[in-house]
Amino acid sequence: MARTICISMEFHVRQHTEAPCRVLWPFPSQCYATFRCMNREDIAMLRYGACYYPEHWTAEQARQHIPLMQKAGINVVRMGEFAWCKFEPEPGRYKFDWIDPIIDALGKAGIATVLGTPTAIPPNWAYSRQPNILQKNAEGHVRNPGARCHCCKNAPGYQFMCEGIVQEMARHYKDNPSVIGWQVDNEFGCHNTTRCYCEHCEKAFREWLIAKYGDIEALNAAWGTSFWGFDFRQWNEIPLPRTMPAGPNPAHWLDFVRFSSDTQVKFMKTQYDLIKGICPKHFVTHNFMGCFPEIDYYKLSQHLDFPVWDNYPDSFGDPFHPSYAHEITRSFKGRFWVMEEKSGPTGDAEAGLLGEQPEPGEIRRWAWQAVANGADGVLYFRWRVCLFGAEQYWHGILDHDGIPRRRYAEVRKTAEEFVKAAPDLEGTQVEVRIALIRHFDALWSFERQPGVAGFHYDGHCFEMYRAVKQNGHNCDIINVDSDFARYRVVIAPSLSLVDDALAKRLHAFADAGGTLVFTPQSGVRTPANAMWDRTRPGPLAPLVGATVDEVRPYYHGQTNEIAFTQGALAGQTCNVGTWVEMLHAAGAETVAEFRDEAFAGKPAITCNTVGKGKVYYLGVFLPEKILKAFLAGVLPEFPMKDIPEGVEVTMRRGKQGRIVFVINNTRERQTLTLPGQFPDLLSGETVGPKVTLARNGVLILKA
Ligand SMILES: [Zn+2]
Repeated sequence: MARTICISMEFHVRQHTEAPCRVLWPFPSQCYATFRCMNREDIAMLRYGACYYPEHWTAEQARQHIPLMQKAGINVVRMGEFAWCKFEPEPGRYKFDWIDPIIDALGKAGIATVLGTPTAIPPNWAYSRQPNILQKNAEGHVRNPGARCHCCKNAPGYQFMCEGIVQEMARHYKDNPSVIGWQVDNEFGCHNTTRCYCEHCEKAFREWLIAKYGDIEALNAAWGTSFWGFDFRQWNEIPLPRTMPAGPNPAHWLDFVRFSSDTQVKFMKTQYDLIKGICPKHFVTHNFMGCFPEIDYYKLSQHLDFPVWDNYPDSFGDPFHPSYAHEITRSFKGRFWVMEEKSGPTGDAEAGLLGEQPEPGEIRRWAWQAVANGADGVLYFRWRVCLFGAEQYWHGILDHDGIPRRRYAEVRKTAEEFVKAAPDLEGTQVEVRIALIRHFDALWSFERQPGVAGFHYDGHCFEMYRAVKQNGHNCDIINVDSDFARYRVVIAPSLSLVDDALAKRLHAFADAGGTLVFTPQSGVRTPANAMWDRTRPGPLAPLVGATVDEVRPYYHGQTNEIAFTQGALAGQTCNVGTWVEMLHAAGAETVAEFRDEAFAGKPAITCNTVGKGKVYYLGVFLPEKILKAFLAGVLPEFPMKDIPEGVEVTMRRGKQGRIVFVINNTRERQTLTLPGQFPDLLSGETVGPKVTLARNGVLILKA
């Protein structure tokens, strides 16, 4: 039996019930009331593969590639997403014989195919047949062809062509046994192309506004057009917020970026419906870009079977960044793949620079980090770096000469480890008790109006996430309409756009025993992006049990000292900056207060008891170490203490029990203490309580 078959593992349809577990890992199983099993019948295997571009190679080279892939343990490739000009070399003449023999040969080698719909780049004949399909930027300049992502998704001519090629490909491959699924297009919005300012978009934006507001006076009222004389009499007077002498109306801006996001969602839905209508057994996905801020991925995820994302970690960056994006992507549907995992130096198409070379052990660690955070598939980008084109520096597993070297050996070794661990990973899912709300409306609102220099909404969300992770917990990244009851703690960083309905749902969560954590600038805006006329934090004030007396944006490095008055941090002091809010407790207890003479004694952090739950309001941004310690007192107990900085602990759980991943993301050896002794699936040895992980070391413990 080929290696690629050995590596596979069947997932079975799971019952939506709490599975019993052996409680060797010291958590009572009832802690995980939020645990949920997913139906996995459409993901038949743990996938391990690479992105492959047969159009870059001769038939002879491709024939040589396939046995090497097989030897590396690869069981899936993604192909075709930029090859429209090969699939339809002339208008209406479709051609598949350049790739079909490759798909068949891969299939015979046990390697399945995911096809990309090639709509990110139309053939060059398209521009003369379908005029006016190119995007325009905010200055009104055309985004020219020659690269990718330059067509307007609201241009009828482009939409017509896209539907044609997608239908034709779906019909051709619907019964091909090697094709298992589809990736629609590629990285929507890449190269700053989410927002288009062309005439098609202006027309579509007005239609979007008519559907939303119905009446022009309702729009005038919602946008506050009485400011700077912006009243509209008719829909066709409404412009796109193109470059203008001063900042746009915030409501106009927010509706435009919502519309631009919805444009991508609609484009996705069209292709999803077309493919599913013809190939109902194939999965359909799209490759997200982690924390990409311009598209509401919650909405986009409604029109795909499960999301995938493209992971290019920075060797010297924060090791929790990839985990954050893994958890963001997992949270949309409870499962995900990494469709592009860095496997060599990157090669930026614009700067022309060769990126960092992964150090020995990093490719393996990144693959396990993805699985540890819930991935059911990891594909490397890419099989072999191409010899030409804007990304001729962007490396893959193989270099330009195609000779397998140490990166290939590492991919192969990791495949062997996947085989070892696969039976125990079967049917497991990441255990989560904590959620963090990442709200796209807030993200977009702060993009225009951060309130103070140095505040970045997504950066703040990541700081809060990181502190959760440093305390050992996994964390779902959720939307405001998610089911809060699945979690013990919900953290809502700078949740600025809040209405009474959302405040009521959050109140019900706390009342039932949940813990909420809010941070500065919460509850200040209406859903239209106007300011509330209520005292901050607006609709959240009754829940928080405190109001904001005064806000102080800090510039020039100014800080203020606060002192904790209760809890584990009582007596500790720290300096806070960027933005502070002087609070007034109205029922809540003071947890920390300002020390600065002018505001001495004013609450900086409060805690309100609501029913069976607690609601914290942080009027300040805490320094990293203090934030970690503060959250340690808010989050549920975690059985491992003093986890070294940069070491990651995650858990997946299934009917067989728990699998605990311990990953050393640092460049030094790390020693830590486990809460007992556990068998390590990779080495076969029993380890603990004290363990030392080498640089890039990974333990996969059966608990
Ligand atoms: Zn457009």
